[in-house]
Amino acid sequence: MRKALTGQGASRGTVLGRARVRLPHALQIAEQHLLPEEAPAELARLHRAIDAVRAEMHVLRARLHGALAQEVGEFLDLHALLLDDPELLHGLDELVRVRHFTADYALRVQRDRLAGVFEAMDDPYFRSRVEDIDQVIGRVHAALHRRECELRGFAGEILVTESVAPAEMAQLQAQGVVGLVTTGGSPLGHTAILARSLHMPLVVDCQGALDLTNDGDALIVDGGSGRVVIEPNADDLREHQARERGHVRERRQLARLRREPTRTLDGVDIRLFANAESQDDVSEAHALGAAGVGLYRTEFLFLQRSELPDEDEQFRAYRDVVMGMNGQPVTIRTLDVGADKTDRTGLTLRDEPNPALGLRGVRLSLMRRGLFETQLRAVLRASAYGRVRLLVPMVTCGEEVVAVRREVARVAAQLRAEGLPLGDDVPLGVMIEVPAAALALPAFIREVDFLSVGTNDLVQYLLAVDRNHEGLGRLYTPLHPAVIRVLRDTIRLAQRHACPIAVCGEMAAAPEYAPLLLALGLTDFSLHPGTMLEVRQRIRDCDFAALQAKRSALLRARDREAIERWLAGVGA
Ligand code: PEP
Ligand code: MG
Repeated sequence: MRKALTGQGASRGTVLGRARVRLPHALQIAEQHLLPEEAPAELARLHRAIDAVRAEMHVLRARLHGALAQEVGEFLDLHALLLDDPELLHGLDELVRVRHFTADYALRVQRDRLAGVFEAMDDPYFRSRVEDIDQVIGRVHAALHRRECELRGFAGEILVTESVAPAEMAQLQAQGVVGLVTTGGSPLGHTAILARSLHMPLVVDCQGALDLTNDGDALIVDGGSGRVVIEPNADDLREHQARERGHVRERRQLARLRREPTRTLDGVDIRLFANAESQDDVSEAHALGAAGVGLYRTEFLFLQRSELPDEDEQFRAYRDVVMGMNGQPVTIRTLDVGADKTDRTGLTLRDEPNPALGLRGVRLSLMRRGLFETQLRAVLRASAYGRVRLLVPMVTCGEEVVAVRREVARVAAQLRAEGLPLGDDVPLGVMIEVPAAALALPAFIREVDFLSVGTNDLVQYLLAVDRNHEGLGRLYTPLHPAVIRVLRDTIRLAQRHACPIAVCGEMAAAPEYAPLLLALGLTDFSLHPGTMLEVRQRIRDCDFAALQAKRSALLRARDREAIERWLAGVGA
């Protein structure tokens, strides 16, 4: 039966596909018992599901190729090992055979037992294995409720689930998933950022999706409007096809702007840099005429694996990007794991009460000197191959900048002493994403060579609204007078000191905010290539001088509604 749901659109594109429901990892299954005579059939059912998952993982493993094969393959191998773990299998058998638990409840009991053992370990690496146990148990549980013929890969399917970790995104795409619907999540989380980078339609915060969707249902997902239709009717299908044709037309029109300058109506040139996480992003950035890479998030090299990338692996990855941009600057940001970018390497602390306020960004780098030195060596070695800029995340004060600069100088001297080539000049910049850094900037702006404003975190910390909190949706907005004021002050201060400044948060990627950022005097934007042409189009429709003249009205706006009225007034 047709059902329509609405969530928040988080990655544009409309897609029609077959639903694959993944139930939450932490199984909420009440205690259920069988009659003794039912136990043998239940045990057989459980074993069929385990065999099916084993086969499913085998097929997935065989289907992987290219760069993902190693990365994702290791992860699948680990799951295969866990699935064959005698402790897990004997425990399950016993629970069904002797205690007459249903297979579902036995899975839950066994999951809790194993998770308890791992969670009690001191080593953070082993504690992080709980996630893998949850995924394996989750797969078996899903298989228990699926018909046999449906046990296959994800090709052409839309995954409906509670949440997707950023680290899972590449794997899902490699498996052929064409769209995602999550009941949790937010358009500003890293999963959404990655979905946009992978051009995967995503609707987040879609309440009821898990209860109302069944495996195999036809689904239409519109990642722009946030609409999800289960078992669409003829009208829905027609509408979907029309929207798809509209997207193709729009893309064709925008494609004409590939080689056009990003110039306002009154002739001011604006530079669009790319936020690039993969070689594909780099190629796309190049093809779209990006002015360089404004943000390369190195943490994505550290996710989805259990050991840290060594210096050579990092060096090759950074050098590939640098060479890929062919002489244009590449801004490599030092590691920012933590908060929602949790890793499997044991670097981040799993039990931090407030991870967004915890050990992340430059704090972690300065605390783990060996880790930082390895990364700096790799970045500086890559600087021999083109123009590299080093960007430091989560800075709060000048002392951190001084400490990083000292470390960079030490590592550069070390490399020179070893006779390794490196670039002559690697500018050092900081992210302005913590309010303290914005407020203290006059005291340390002379220590930095450039600035990049991370509005994703800046908004979160200024407004005390978690960027990933689905329940706070509308409260998380850059359209707040405090945000506008901090942006204005930061841009003005940078310009007074002739210090290059860009905005690299998602605000710069939203075409509707372009007039506002131009009005504040911004001329450098850094955004994912996926929306670069739309932003270019919007900027080409703006008159820079006219927007400057409207700046004081923007700064006088007292609340979100007034800022929205200002935006509407300038045609956004
Ligand atoms: C930001 O905070 O705006 C930013 C660009 O960094 P990230 O999204 O990686 O935290
Ligand atoms: Mg940030």
